[in-house]
Formats: sequence, structure tokens, C-alpha cells
Amino acid sequence: MYSFTQNDSLSLGVDWNYMYPSGLAKQYLNETFMPLADNFDVSARFNSDWNWFLDDEIMGRIQAGDYQLEQIVFHEIIHGLGFISSWYTWLGDGDDVLLPGYVVRNASGLCVGLSKPYIFNKFMADNVNNIWFKDHAEVLRAGTESVTPTDNYTLWLERFRRTPAFSRARTLLRVSQSHMGVTFWFRSPAKPNSSATSILWDYAFLYSPDGFAPGSSLSHVDNKMYDATEDWIMRPSGSPGVKLADYRPQARRYGPVGWRILAMLRALGWRTVLDQPGWGDYGRGIGGVVGAA
Ligand SMILES: [Zn+2]
Repeated sequence: MYSFTQNDSLSLGVDWNYMYPSGLAKQYLNETFMPLADNFDVSARFNSDWNWFLDDEIMGRIQAGDYQLEQIVFHEIIHGLGFISSWYTWLGDGDDVLLPGYVVRNASGLCVGLSKPYIFNKFMADNVNNIWFKDHAEVLRAGTESVTPTDNYTLWLERFRRTPAFSRARTLLRVSQSHMGVTFWFRSPAKPNSSATSILWDYAFLYSPDGFAPGSSLSHVDNKMYDATEDWIMRPSGSPGVKLADYRPQARRYGPVGWRILAMLRALGWRTVLDQPGWGDYGRGIGGVVGAA
């Protein structure tokens, strides 16, 4: 993840309040600033002892519980493009709260507040309380910054627990476990019916299971709702016994990425096929591959 300077943010038109995935940051930065970003775009590790099969495997030889490696790699690459929330149980066991970033220290080693959230967070809405998660984050940021700084993390935590922000963070952990409680909003690829100048908005339900699942909750689309839809690839679990190619007929055009996932990546700042001339009139149920065409 990359954090732009305030000056760069102004000139590049990015949001200084958020961290961007390295691959996307490099699309904005010129060569002078390139060395500041990671020299790789996405980093991922895969189990060597998992029951993978490869794309060229004959379908009849694939066991029911086997996973196509390409499917999982593809899913992880999309996470690497920024499809990941930084709302997390950052304080760990015993402190059941949801925070948008981890506790950071200043140059003198004092705990002073929270890290910048990931850009994905900007588009998240709390449907239980009808409020943007970014507004919750603002309260939590101010709350943690109001805590008297100390280099003693345990003491800092004790002080933070006594703030109203801590209660808010606790409430948010409950919200993150509410069925249909969290949505991600984006510009709809569908064309407005009447005025060509108006913008249609649409949303996807994020994965919010009962019991916060670290690494899965909020960083995926809902497991059940998008099963057997064109947006299946960013569900929290892979689909065993299935090849990416099998989903092409269902997506009707150009591959296994659904229009919701594309529109979500576009919200983060990526240019997608949705921006190609003649591709702006995607209706529901039509997919396309990022960067293709
Ligand atoms: Zn995932």
C-alpha cells in the first residue's frame, strides 16, 4: 500500500486520506516518484501442499474438492489491486472492536493515533446506522488522537478504552457481523434512462458473517448472495471443481469478472473496460476483463 504526499495528492487528484495499492499508485506517479512505491504490484503466497489442479487438467480427473490454481491466483490478484478493506480487529484478542487502521507511533516512539485506511474503505456504508464508514473512521481517528500519547502501548490502550470512540469501535464490530449490514457503493455501469448527465449509483453487499472472520469479513462480496452470479470470483471462498473458463458462458462476454467487481475496481481508481468507448452501457449480467479490449 502506498501513501501519497499531500502535494502529490493535490496535483494527481487522489485522496490523501487513504492508502492506495502499489500497482494503482504507480499508474498515478511519474518515474521520479516510482522508487517510492514497492517495486512489485502484488505479493501473494500459495500453499504448496494444497489439492490444486491446473487449467489444462482433464475435467474427468478433477476430484470434487480440488481447486483450480488459476482461479485462486486470479482472486488474490484482485485483492492486490486494492479490493481489500482495512477495517479490522486491529487491537487483537480481548478487545473486540473494529478499527480502520492499526495504532501508529511517531518518530519518538509514542502511540499517537491510527494508520491511514485503505482506499476501499472510502466507499463502504453502514446500513444498520445509515452512515458512511468514512464518517465512523473520522470519529475514531479524532478519538485515538485525543488520547494522551505514550510509548507504553498497554497504557495507551487503557486510555483509549475510556473514550467514546472505543464504544463506537465496539458497535462497528457488531455492524460488521450484521446480515446485509455493509455495502460498497459505486457508479453504475448502466446508462441512466432519462438524462444523460445524471449518474446512477449501485452497490454490492460485502461479506459480513456472524462472527468476524479475519481476512475474509468486509474484504469480499457476500458469500451466498453472489454465489452462481457473475461476481462469484470475489466471494470469500473459492469454488472447488470449477475452472475460470467455465464461467465465460455465464458472464456472456470476455471472462469471469462481473460488472459489480469491475465497477468496484473502477471506484478505487482503476481504468476498466467499463471506460472503453462503447462499453459504457453495461447492463446487469454482463461481465468484462480489466484492461481488456
Ligand atoms: Zn479473498
